[in-house]
Amino acid sequence: MTDTLTVSVLGTGIMGAAMARNLTRAGHTVRAWNRTRDKAEPLAADGAYVADTPADAVRGADVVLTMLYDGAAALEVVRQAAPALRPGTAWVQSTTAGIEAVGELAGLAREHELVFFDAPVLGTRQPAEAGQLIVLAAGPSRSREAVAPVLDAIGARTVWTGEDGAEGSASRLKLVANSWVLAATNAAGEVLALSQALGVDPQSFFDAIAGGPLDMGYLRTKSELVLNDRLSPASFAVTTAIKDARLIVEAGQRHGIRLDLAAAGAERLARAAAQGHGDEDMAAAYFASFDEEDQAGSRTDQTF
Ligand code: NAP
Repeated sequence: MTDTLTVSVLGTGIMGAAMARNLTRAGHTVRAWNRTRDKAEPLAADGAYVADTPADAVRGADVVLTMLYDGAAALEVVRQAAPALRPGTAWVQSTTAGIEAVGELAGLAREHELVFFDAPVLGTRQPAEAGQLIVLAAGPSRSREAVAPVLDAIGARTVWTGEDGAEGSASRLKLVANSWVLAATNAAGEVLALSQALGVDPQSFFDAIAGGPLDMGYLRTKSELVLNDRLSPASFAVTTAIKDARLIVEAGQRHGIRLDLAAAGAERLARAAAQGHGDEDMAAAYFASFDEEDQAGSRTDQTF
C-alpha cells in the first residue's frame, strides 16, 4: 500500500470536517459524507469528493474514518455504508461511543470483514484543525501501518492501548480523560457563578492562583469563553458533553463505582441545554447555576 490513500470520512461536524481537511492537505483522496450535506459541502474546495450517501462515500476506500455523534449514529451509518465496503478495509472509529457501543461496532466490523480500530481522540476544535489531536487507538499491529498515514494526518501522536479494538481499551482511556475534562469544565462554571454571587472579581481569583499548582490553562480557556461571551461557535457543544457525561456515569455504574461529580455534571449540562445553550460550548454549563436565565445574562453589567 502506498502512503496516499483513499479515505472516507463519515461525519463532518466540528471534528470530522477538520480531520477531513487535514487528510486532503496530506495528499489523500477524501470522500466525505455528512447527514446534513451543507456541512460537508465546503470540503469540496479542499479537493474532497462530497458523497450523497454513506455507501457512495466508502466506494474504493482504503480506510473509513467515522466521526459521528455517538455509537448509535456510527452503527447506523456504517450499516448503510456496508454494502459498498470491501472486505479487509480498515475502519478507524473515532466517535466517542463508549465501551458498550464499541463492542457492537466491532461486531459490525467482523460481520463485514473490516479491520476495526477503536480510535477516539483527545483534543478539540483547534487541535483538530491543526492536525494535532492525540489519537488513542487499539487495533492489530499487523494492520497499523495501513492506517498510520491517516492517524499521522489528524494527530500529533497516537497512543496505542491494545491489539483488539473490540475490547475498547482506547475508549476506556477516552472516558477516563473526558471525566477530567468535564469535571474541570463544570468546576470552572461554578467558580465563575460563585464569584458573581459573592461579588468577587474572577480576575482576583486567577491572580491569586497564578503560576501555582491550582492554576490551569483549561480553567482560563473555558472561563474566557464565558466572561467574553464567546460560547459560539462551540469547540465542544453542550449536547455532545451531555452524551459523554452520561457515558461516564454509565461506565462507573457498570463497573461498580460511584461518580457523584460526573452525575452532577451531567445534570448541570442538561439544565444548560434546557435553558437553550445546547449548541454552545460546554463552558455554558455555567448557566446551570442560575434559576433565571436573565440573572446569568446580567453578569457583564454587574460583577464581571
Ligand atoms: P458535531 O459537530 O455535533 O458532529 C456530530 C456529527 O454526527 C455530525 O456530522 C452529525 O450530522 C452527525 N450525526 C449525529 N447524529 C447522526 C445520525 N443519527 N446519523 C448520522 N449522522 C449523525 O460534534 P463533534 O464535536 O464533531 O463530535 C463528533 C464526535 O467526536 C463525538 O462523538 C464527540 O464526542 C467526539 N469528540 C468531540 C470533541 C470536541 O471537542 N468537539 C473532542 C473529542 C471527541 P449533522 O451535521 O447532520 O447533524
